[in-house]
Amino acid sequence: MTDLFLHDSAARTKRRFQPIDPAHVRMYVCGPTVYDLAHLGNARPVVVFDVLARLLRRLYPQVTYVRNITDVDDKINARSRDSGEPIAAITARTTADFHRDMAALGALPPDVEPRATGHIAEMIALIERLIANGHAYAADGHVLFSVPSFGDYGKLSGRTPDELLAGARIDVAPYKRDAGDFVLWKPSDDATPGWGSPWGRGRPGWHIECSAMSWKHLGEEFDIHGGGHDLIFPHHENEVAQSVCAFPGHAFAHYWMHNGMLLVDGEKMSKSLGNFRTVRDILAEGPWAGEAFRLLLLRTHYRASLDFTMEALREAKAELDDHYAMLSRAPAAPGGGAATHLADWVIAPLLDDLNTPLALARLRDLRTLENAVTVGGSPAVAMERAGLTTPPAPGVAAAAFREAAAVLGVATGDPAAWLQGGGDDAADVEAAIAARLAARKAKNWAEADRIRDDLKAKGILLEDGAGGTTWRRA
Ligand SMILES: [Zn+2]
Repeated sequence: MTDLFLHDSAARTKRRFQPIDPAHVRMYVCGPTVYDLAHLGNARPVVVFDVLARLLRRLYPQVTYVRNITDVDDKINARSRDSGEPIAAITARTTADFHRDMAALGALPPDVEPRATGHIAEMIALIERLIANGHAYAADGHVLFSVPSFGDYGKLSGRTPDELLAGARIDVAPYKRDAGDFVLWKPSDDATPGWGSPWGRGRPGWHIECSAMSWKHLGEEFDIHGGGHDLIFPHHENEVAQSVCAFPGHAFAHYWMHNGMLLVDGEKMSKSLGNFRTVRDILAEGPWAGEAFRLLLLRTHYRASLDFTMEALREAKAELDDHYAMLSRAPAAPGGGAATHLADWVIAPLLDDLNTPLALARLRDLRTLENAVTVGGSPAVAMERAGLTTPPAPGVAAAAFREAAAVLGVATGDPAAWLQGGGDDAADVEAAIAARLAARKAKNWAEADRIRDDLKAKGILLEDGAGGTTWRRA
């Protein structure tokens, strides 16, 4: 395998990835604020950085992937006030919903999933360091970060001081020394969650939460910090300011990666446009929908904006149907050797800043190579692209497919279960197949054909083979 290159938002260019410790790669990604179901845009970074984590695990002996849960936030407080549901119930339920939805998208859990409310002591310690270093000040029950005290402020997002002010949605507060200063700690009234602190009972600002959780679990500096493009300013700009000023001499994140935005039907998703979709809405389309949505996300390069349409979701399902049909027919073959060589060819584009569209195209070429053995078709074009002069032996392309697909996290399920669609009528189909077998044994061909036609009318196709009868949905 060759070197890994990643686009670093801070450098505004692709850079060769050089981990701080090649024996242990460390990555932090901003997780959800748990007050509502995840929408389609929330799913994109989860899937993108899941692929990156899988790739890093293939390349390095140890990876620690940290993705937080923000369970203290004014949006959560507002939701509780509006609905009357206790805050703890909202955050517990929404966290469980998030876990279920992301698992349905094939995203593996991160190695550590810290909750903000479990790290208040670290936040207070960070804020105390910032005050001691002259980068923060207490005023009127608040603690603010002094933006003019950090000369590199604005470097990550590339904004000028005027743009910074315009983008920060400044609320002019009398306790701020500078209009751009942002809140590290704020006072809580009796009806709002709060913790004791040197500045009175209060709660953290959002930005300090991520600086504290990444510090606790990954140290003063680590390799990769990821998140959605919309987090670069002010959230990530403020994280840099806090962490670099609290720990002088440390660079915080060495690589910043941001995924592009997700549109629905060509428009920015919004409740007023009627194109707002939760992940749960998509999963309701069928047992295939989670994996199809994951494939849809990966068919666009992570930095580009992505347009979700139901047609694109159905196209992704059709691609998975073809993949699983190939896997269900392919003869078993050992991995390693030629198979690993072909798997590396599929994975190679991922080393070039996670080029998932090209990796998926090469996965389709492996399908063509395997299908040429089992159902026919010409492998010539796929062979040329893969640099092969002779077709792979039966099962070898499928073994390579499985190995590479595991890095992408697509088509990794049981082919028979996929092709049977996970419907709740599987027992009825099995009973009909048994009845047809009995009819055939009794040489009652008319009855056997009637059962087959009956199933076909319901969209169930039977395939008689040496090992018995298998079925799949049309
Ligand atoms: Zn964050």
